[in-house]
Amino acid sequence: KRTKFVAGNWKMNGSLAANQALIEGFASEVQSGVDVSVFCPFPYLAQVAGLVKGTGISFGSQDVSAKASGAYTGEVSVSMLKEFGVTQTLVGHSERRSFHAESSEAVALKAVAALEGGLMPIVCVGETLAERESGLVESVLAAQLDPVVEHCSRFVSNDTWNLVIAYEPVWAIGTGVTASPEQAQAVHAMIRARLKAMLGEVVAQSTRILYGGSVKPGNAAEIFAKEDIDGGLIGGAALSSSDFSGIIRAA
Ligand code: 13P
Repeated sequence: KRTKFVAGNWKMNGSLAANQALIEGFASEVQSGVDVSVFCPFPYLAQVAGLVKGTGISFGSQDVSAKASGAYTGEVSVSMLKEFGVTQTLVGHSERRSFHAESSEAVALKAVAALEGGLMPIVCVGETLAERESGLVESVLAAQLDPVVEHCSRFVSNDTWNLVIAYEPVWAIGTGVTASPEQAQAVHAMIRARLKAMLGEVVAQSTRILYGGSVKPGNAAEIFAKEDIDGGLIGGAALSSSDFSGIIRAA
């Protein structure tokens, strides 16, 4: 049985004051049986480390470098994140792929760096509306997933790995348009089938696959109830403690 997982991606939002109010506002909703994480901008990692202490909330970064150190201006390494208590990182969010030209190969190498350093990557995948309308969902997802599996399969141990996948259809991110629970479930099942084909049934069944894209307190429960949907990666609604609380309760 996969533990449900609710993750908040704050994107480039927040302030010292807002972060504190936000975390204090939902910390009491965290219950055993549901994993809860927040992904904050880099400068706030130290603050968030303090705020989540003793709450059961995990935290992480929204990106990480594939490189260990050196002349990579603007990049942040796994070992730097670990010094601040980070245990998880997003990689390959669609905003990184589109605004920073991250290829699926580059995303896979970030996942490798995270796994090598003991961080859990949440690898984000998803198709655009044009790709969906052209019938390309399966091929786009395969092209995004396969490099990750190829590079990261060596981290599978005892039929499991410390890696989570987030399916975020680009057309549902920040638009208010959610994939229907059935649409999301169909893609999650497709992703799990691909994992099964490449890594075997046990790994596929143990891998958590989150849905992201306009998840709100009002639609979370029916999305999370689907067989292959193991929780959500939440953007806008993760910035409101009452909305995020409602989504945690729905999990
Ligand atoms: P929204 O929940 O704002 O649609 O964002 C989803 C997302 O991109 C989370 O990573």
